[in-house]
Amino acid sequence: MAKTGEICAFCGRSSQEAKVFINGMSGAICDSCAVRAYEMVMEQGRHSKIPFGLNQKELPKPEDIKNHLDQYVIGQEEAKRYLSVSVYNHYKRILQKVTPDDDVEIEKSNIIMVGATGTGKTLLARTIAKLLHVPFAIVDATVLTEAGYVGEDVESILTRLLQAADYHVDMAQRGIVFIDEIDKIARKSDNPSITRDVSGEGVQQGLLKLLEGSIVNVPPQGGRKHPEQKMIAVDTKNILFICGGAFDGIEKKIAQRLNARVIGYVAGKETNQLDKDNMLKYITPTDLKSYGLIPEIIGRLPILTYLKPLDRNALRNILTEPKNSIIKQYLKLFEMDGIKLSFDEDTYEFIVDKALEFKLGARGLRSIVEVIMIDAMYSMPSEQVEEFRVTLVYAKEKFEKSDTSHLLAHKDRC
Ligand code: ADP
Repeated sequence: MAKTGEICAFCGRSSQEAKVFINGMSGAICDSCAVRAYEMVMEQGRHSKIPFGLNQKELPKPEDIKNHLDQYVIGQEEAKRYLSVSVYNHYKRILQKVTPDDDVEIEKSNIIMVGATGTGKTLLARTIAKLLHVPFAIVDATVLTEAGYVGEDVESILTRLLQAADYHVDMAQRGIVFIDEIDKIARKSDNPSITRDVSGEGVQQGLLKLLEGSIVNVPPQGGRKHPEQKMIAVDTKNILFICGGAFDGIEKKIAQRLNARVIGYVAGKETNQLDKDNMLKYITPTDLKSYGLIPEIIGRLPILTYLKPLDRNALRNILTEPKNSIIKQYLKLFEMDGIKLSFDEDTYEFIVDKALEFKLGARGLRSIVEVIMIDAMYSMPSEQVEEFRVTLVYAKEKFEKSDTSHLLAHKDRC
């Protein structure tokens, strides 16, 4: 019979049966138990990253949140301030100890961000979730349909959040959900009964119960609910919902409202002072309603903020300034091959010019840099190169000889 020290103290396997056998002071462990132990330690470590230790002292203050966002997101000051404050208040609300004689209950403050595609809405939401170590899920509202129709039920939003939290319901219940393209589920017509609107008002009604906070039965693997499926009950009371949408053409509705307001008394004067290049800054919940969001949904998204279109200066900064900017990523890639990469300032200007010319926005910057760098990235790792400077002449030559059709295909996706 095997002696102590020759059998694993955890599973009882003998040293002959194990590939690796580690002897300790008063016992031994086999390779499979050591691996299992390692996995358990890692798993525990991951979940001990509970958001800010769940006490208010550790909760980052709005200014800290904004400073953190500044490291990753260029511009968008207004949106950053609104987000920082509402996220701070949201988690303060979760931490609030409600006592029987405390009759002030802080209400939930979900957020809606309006701004053209590729201006940083998703990036903002994602960056905040990372800072707070909370589960984060992104869902596209366009795939949602009213229950019973082809598409996804609104509950699938919570399936994604559960997956992001490795099915730890308590963590998911404090997570953040980013619902993109919320404008695409706007009511198509002012008359709600004109046709069945399965991907519009019906979905908005479905979303309501999630946004206002209720206990929802969620299919753990997503897809359609069916009677035999085991459901997980998720309470959405403390989940923060951040919605984003481009709301194409909403500027017109804002302008109409503003014009209607001034006609009749100070006509002309007030409208002349409007910042016509950035009408979104005058957005109010009324405009969302005229765009086709139902009042109940608007009521559940009390924080409304906007993102500015990215100008030349912002695009230039996005290239190099964020902590993990596109250019920093390329420097790193080359550095790993022992090559010191650098770009001339006019190369940056050229990249920005092309992004503007092709109307690609921030998402296009990466594709343009990729086109310029592909040849060098292909050949240099096998050459004895120590330094590589990307000049304007080089960038122009590579860009002009490339097939830009895929850049335009990219534009369609943007
Ligand atoms: P949206 O959600 O508004 O459509 P995203 O946040 O997905 O846009 O932005 C797409 C990409 O463009 C991001 O991953 C990021 O690389 C870049 N980007 C967009 N806006 C900014 C910004 N303000 N600052 C830094 N990068 C940005």
